[in-house]
Amino acid sequence: MRFIIAVLFVATLGTKLNANPIPTPKLTENVLQSMALRDYPAATQQLRPALAAAPGHPAIQRLLGILKLQTGDFAGALTAFQYILRLYPNDPISLYGQGLSLLGTGNPISAIKSFDLSEKYGGDPTRILLARRYAQWITGAQVSLEDAGLPQELAASQYALQGIQATKQGDWATAVRLLEASFKTSNGDTFRQAPAPLLSFDIVYPLAGGGGKLSAESLKTVTPKGTISGTILLRPKKDLDGVSYVSYEANRNALGVVNIHPFQYAWDTRRVPNGVHTVSVVLHNASAIEIDRIDLRYRVFNPEVENIEEDKQNPNLNAALWQAITLQPDRCAAAYSLGVALRMLGRAGEANIWFLRALAINPNYRDAKGHWIATGGRTGAGSAIWGGVPTDKVVCLTFDDGPKPGITEPLLEVLKSERVPATFFVIGRHVAANPALTRQIVDAGMELANHSYTHPNLTKISSEAVAKEILQTQAAIFTVTGKTSKYFRPPGGNWNASVAQVTRNWGLIPCMWTVDVYGSEVISAQEVAKDVLTRVRPGSIVLMHNGKLSTLQALPFIIRELRKRGYSFVTVETLARRLEQTKYRMPEPKNIRKIE
Ligand code: ZN
Repeated sequence: MRFIIAVLFVATLGTKLNANPIPTPKLTENVLQSMALRDYPAATQQLRPALAAAPGHPAIQRLLGILKLQTGDFAGALTAFQYILRLYPNDPISLYGQGLSLLGTGNPISAIKSFDLSEKYGGDPTRILLARRYAQWITGAQVSLEDAGLPQELAASQYALQGIQATKQGDWATAVRLLEASFKTSNGDTFRQAPAPLLSFDIVYPLAGGGGKLSAESLKTVTPKGTISGTILLRPKKDLDGVSYVSYEANRNALGVVNIHPFQYAWDTRRVPNGVHTVSVVLHNASAIEIDRIDLRYRVFNPEVENIEEDKQNPNLNAALWQAITLQPDRCAAAYSLGVALRMLGRAGEANIWFLRALAINPNYRDAKGHWIATGGRTGAGSAIWGGVPTDKVVCLTFDDGPKPGITEPLLEVLKSERVPATFFVIGRHVAANPALTRQIVDAGMELANHSYTHPNLTKISSEAVAKEILQTQAAIFTVTGKTSKYFRPPGGNWNASVAQVTRNWGLIPCMWTVDVYGSEVISAQEVAKDVLTRVRPGSIVLMHNGKLSTLQALPFIIRELRKRGYSFVTVETLARRLEQTKYRMPEPKNIRKIE
């Protein structure tokens, strides 16, 4: 009988229930951490079950609002913050969040009022000052932040806003000084976007989100359903013969004891946190022996008892919440404006790299591509290289996927001591993470080439995403070494006409290979040596990996053996020059084997 009752209750509540109340501080911490890593799908995943269990929970709505601010859904963020403000009209974070949402939806005047209220009720004065000044600037006012006394974490935004203001006034020298200061004081790579929400410096769309919008359906603001609230009457639904008294527990903690038939207990659900609770109805006989226990699950929601004020007593959590809604400059906009200012001052070479950095963040940003080309950016590169001239007794050794600490150094030692030039197809994020090691590759006389930023399958992502992969790597290589790579190799050899088009559009020549030793690299050094030495032909491009110990061990033997056979070693650049001189073109092979 008791099983039927339990099943009925669960069925009434409709969804899968959690055993415990929602641990909002822990959830907040986790969701904020995902957002800090810009892992919005993970943040969404973490938030979804909590939203389903207690959709009206203010702490959860606040996280939802922050997530929507960060992903650029300002209307959705406004709904979430306004929901909280109906329960807690003075919550400073929600007032500030409402202000940002209003700014994002194009209402700077209302935004300023909300910022003022946030400050009145204890909101962070420096963040509010920055947001207010920015909103005022959006309305057309000249703003000053020189003496604002903003903390270091807001310096990048402060300098960027002043720098952009200077560009609007045509004060190019001041603009360059301030925008350079903005990049110097910001954390992270100049060619990657800052954490959202972003100051876009665009009058029509003043704020921008990062990492792409969440789909409108993925996290909706919904009113609580299938929940209980207030005081409810609990009673055992079974034959009460032999029952002397009934005790009630919530999550194994005693609620009360009733010894009067029919043993009803009035449970005030406002005494427990919102969320799912297990209520136990325990039947006892006259000898105080437990004769039955029925566990029931209830989803409780009482908006009036929810206390988001608790977060204020947790200074770390409160600081993390403010951190998550700190305005940062849109680095694409700032880099573009810096490029324009430098160009106006006749500093085209410096301007060029800032346009590249802007394009690495958004390849379609305004007329950045035009500026980039006008300041020396290369576009419309030659067709793909599939191999060298078959009458030239040369071999081109290429090493993919580096730089990799621990392997790149000994690899360079071998190549240097054997006086072999080679080409390293580097992964952009490895370059950004290992700048000194990347410079070592160049200092050893090796050629650096582009192998994408994150090594994705380029045939599975949009053309814009392909362009970003290529441009971020170009920007990373330039930022670290001051060099521009000419050649590009698609990760995993995944290649189609659209990827080829994007590669050439951004001035890079695709470089493939004739001998790929991945299959033997995963076996042993002996296999690698055998593989290379049996398959190599004049003009071969050998694809090896900067990360395989087998290759590192086999390399000295391979080099000496090839020398004995009369081969010399060239970089991709040298090989390409010979192709140009001889007008030879190796035809595109019918089937390229997919490699890692
Ligand atoms: Zn690779």
